[in-house]
Amino acid sequence: MNTAYEKLQPYLDKAMAVQTALTLFEWDDATLAPKAAGAKTSRVIEILSGEYFQAVTNGEVKQLVKECREEPLTEVQEAVVRELEDQLDQLDCIPQDEYQAFAKLASESVRVWEKAKEENDFQSFAPVLREVVRYQKKFGDYRAKPGQKRYDALLDAYEKGFSMDQLDQFFGRLKEELVPFLRKVTESRVLIRDDFLTGDFSEDRQERLARFIAEYLGFDFRRGVLAVSAHPFTTNLHNQDVRITTHYTDRVDSSLFSVIHEAGHGIYEMGIRDDLTQTMVGQGASMGMHESQSRFFENIIGRSQAFWEPIYGKFQELFPETFTEIGLDQFVRAVNKVHPDLIRTEADELTYSLHVLIRYEIEKMLIEDDLDVDQLPRIWGDKYEEYLGIRPETDSEGVLQDIHWSQGSFGYFPSYALGSAFGAQIYYHMKKEMDFDGLLREGRLDVIREYLRENIHQYGKLKTSRQIIKDVTGEDFNPDYYIRYLKEKYGKLYEITD
Ligand code: ZN
Repeated sequence: MNTAYEKLQPYLDKAMAVQTALTLFEWDDATLAPKAAGAKTSRVIEILSGEYFQAVTNGEVKQLVKECREEPLTEVQEAVVRELEDQLDQLDCIPQDEYQAFAKLASESVRVWEKAKEENDFQSFAPVLREVVRYQKKFGDYRAKPGQKRYDALLDAYEKGFSMDQLDQFFGRLKEELVPFLRKVTESRVLIRDDFLTGDFSEDRQERLARFIAEYLGFDFRRGVLAVSAHPFTTNLHNQDVRITTHYTDRVDSSLFSVIHEAGHGIYEMGIRDDLTQTMVGQGASMGMHESQSRFFENIIGRSQAFWEPIYGKFQELFPETFTEIGLDQFVRAVNKVHPDLIRTEADELTYSLHVLIRYEIEKMLIEDDLDVDQLPRIWGDKYEEYLGIRPETDSEGVLQDIHWSQGSFGYFPSYALGSAFGAQIYYHMKKEMDFDGLLREGRLDVIREYLRENIHQYGKLKTSRQIIKDVTGEDFNPDYYIRYLKEKYGKLYEITD
């Protein structure tokens, strides 16, 4: 007699294979596919998506999941069944016609948003965004469990274990501490020169730097590739095939830190255990935990003086015209310069979470408080002025800059800030366990990477982000570390004493 789990296995295999194919199309679309392929490929994607939906939600699967609950399962099987139940919960409570109508609306909405952003025309996007919000509110209501608010239910899809109440506290602390601190930084008399980061840097040299730095961090090119796309991202098929992208501009630090960031995501995926990869629990624990790792590599490691000490000479060799004259100290100060800016993806480390705070406050108003989308440009501008001291002159540089809301991704933004805070808490703990800067100075990235693999990466989705933080650091999530990290680092850089 086969067990229920054994009978479930072929469905899981099919879902995994279809998912892998979909991921490959997504990657191809963003990197190499010819423009003309779009419409025909969409048809293939539509069919495959339907197959995935069927593989996961058919009656037989639902029955087998119930039966699995009655039999003894291994730790991995237990986690797979839990993940499958979660996906069923998310999909099953929504009437199929509404689900499909929303999928259609979302793909339309992205197109309308793209055009509106290009033409700086919020009014043309407002009606479709209003519809998207209406659906998300409904879906939140369908998904909300007893005691949950609708925004809680949406948050669950990205970061389990963090409710709106907890995020209110988290973002409340960031606002209270970082908004006045940023004012001190911008009023500081310390001037940091960074003009030399902009220039005519050849793509060929930038690519050589990108490959060198990714490899130096431990991104394994036998199991990974680097390509070019409009917006840098990471995707993976399994732990033997992890793909990162970058883009080359006239700012040498733009591609450089994108690559360090994406390599951080990639190293996470490469570190997932063999028995988990290609299963439903074979990816990073959560959005926030993923972002904790990419931002850990990008900021905590990549923007530190100790990291650059052994390799700055190599960097100078690649761009001798500009950087022979620029010392290590000056370079590191430049890549840490604080510059309140309108665009989130170009933000420095200190102001980054304030961009996220603004989006959190606004999307909560949309989902919980019935804010009408017509009000968005005004509220957006007011909040930028209040928290960052700047106001966008156009909606393209304001409320239209991110793709997320057009796709219906409400509840996604908070994970960016949470990730930074997870990273800082893990960093303070690691400093107690090892000579962190000493290892960086010796180029021993392997020791740091191995620690992260052993304690975080290998588990995939076996543990929640909250559980990982607790197991690694011995305490529950605590945002104080993040605030302390930012204040220590930027207080020193900008000579702020108090
Ligand atoms: Zn990222």
